[in-house]
Amino acid sequence: MTSFVNTIHAKTILVATQNEKKKAEIKDILKDVSGIVLVGTEDFPFLPEVKEDGTTFQENAIKKATILAKACNTWAMADDSGLEIDALNGRPGVYSCRYAGANATDEQNIEKVLSELRGVQKERRTARFVCTSALAGPQGLFFVVEGRCEGFITEEPKGKYGFGYDPVFYVPDYHQTLAELHPSIKNKISHRANALKQFKERIRSLIQRI
Ligand code: IMP
Repeated sequence: MTSFVNTIHAKTILVATQNEKKKAEIKDILKDVSGIVLVGTEDFPFLPEVKEDGTTFQENAIKKATILAKACNTWAMADDSGLEIDALNGRPGVYSCRYAGANATDEQNIEKVLSELRGVQKERRTARFVCTSALAGPQGLFFVVEGRCEGFITEEPKGKYGFGYDPVFYVPDYHQTLAELHPSIKNKISHRANALKQFKERIRSLIQRI
């Protein structure tokens, strides 16, 4: 009976991502938070399309979470992430996915970054991955958290794991690129893992207050 009552009172959270790997990671990290039930975009066939046209990760995450929470009359979690390179004044930033063009491949994006950094000394190749996650309800935003992972951009790609810019992102503590590190390690130190840990704490205290 207790679990029946708990299920009735559980908050449904729409995890607003089409990326199955991200969804699995989010479900895994939040699995021991009681009082919530995570659902995917496939459970809402008529979701509005949200354009990620903000100039910051935070703007995009908040926009997506608030629009979807209102449209679906439920809680919604959304994130936005990317790479910031100091020598490029923070680029590619919110344009990480399409840095070399609308349908650019990971290889083309990497090539563009490496060519823009040609001649830049190792110590000036500092960069970070950033992940911003937002939680909203039908009435508006609850909170936003941000996770980071600091490193350097290498001069050439290395490693076979991961995706995106992982092959050129060197992690000083491990003396390897993110693409050389096993996913089990990346998933402990990544910007996303970092953001999700904070998300978990915030949602726990939110659930206790409602
Ligand atoms: P999104 O937040 O999934 O839309 O990610 C935007 C883009 O940032 C991706 O397409 C990648 O180019 C880059 N990116 C985000 N997270 C990572 C990561 O963990 N490794 C490598 N690239 C990433």
